Amino acid sequence: MTDNKTLDVPTLYIVPTPIGNLGDITQRALDVLSSVDVIAAEDTRHTGRLLSHFNIQTKTFALHDHNEQHKAQALVDKLLSGLSIALVSDAGTPLISDPGYHLVTQCRQAGVKVTPLPGACAVITALSASGLPSDRFSFEGFFPAKSKGRKDKLMEIANVERTCIFYESPHRITDSLQDMLEVLGPDREVVLARELTKTFETIQGLPLGELIDWIEEDSNRKRGEMVLLIHGQREQKDEALPDEALRTLGILNKELPLKRAAAATAEIYNVKKNALYKWGLDNLD
Ligand code: SAM
Repeated sequence: MTDNKTLDVPTLYIVPTPIGNLGDITQRALDVLSSVDVIAAEDTRHTGRLLSHFNIQTKTFALHDHNEQHKAQALVDKLLSGLSIALVSDAGTPLISDPGYHLVTQCRQAGVKVTPLPGACAVITALSASGLPSDRFSFEGFFPAKSKGRKDKLMEIANVERTCIFYESPHRITDSLQDMLEVLGPDREVVLARELTKTFETIQGLPLGELIDWIEEDSNRKRGEMVLLIHGQREQKDEALPDEALRTLGILNKELPLKRAAAATAEIYNVKKNALYKWGLDNLD
């Protein structure tokens, strides 16, 4: 195991911090934060409270959305002169809807070593407990603030089969869910994951129409930090395969292996080969 107490190569460390529960900081994060020369923090007062909780004395330096492009070069120069720096945001993993992109890009361009530490991140935490398919997903950042932008975004993802994940603000949750209802309809399964790792952690998954009713029943359900996860559009159902195509598949399969029978039938009827093949596996001898 690496001993982070001795940092000999100048490195930019990307250090996740807890998204609520302070117990989620890792030992390696604590070691790095106590050992680096300086911590670049989104909000130095906020990070100061975290550091004093863990009795860490390292100096901090502000690096936020408004000054990052301008300050990144100075930090790269410090790194090139031999200092080690840790980058933290207010909560979770830096760069994930948080500052850090410009600094990391410039460090990599300058040949400075960038070492990421794994740790808390609301999108992954929410997905892991959502019950939605996790084999393919996309993180879409914050929902656009205005209704037109939200509907455009929703139309863009309406037909994708992967799980789509958004960060959302409690001030906009009601309006966003109404826009979702308009574009995706009441049956699309959506999960609301709020206050993760905190006292009032809630993870509720329902068809959208029912989720809206559930949220409206108790105003506390609209409060706090939240992640919205949308089930991808489901695959074409077996019923969508024309009866004629299924009959042809059955006849061809008497003479041909299922794969070839499905390919030929797909070509004749212009339907999905995989859907026919799957139907064949389930229904033919
Ligand atoms: N970098 C952070 C991460 O790794 O998750 C995200 C920072 S972004 C500015 C803040 C947003 O993340 C919140 O508005 C909320 O949508 C989501 N978030 C952060 N902490 C959360 C929590 N404990 N529960 C649910 N969502 C959370």
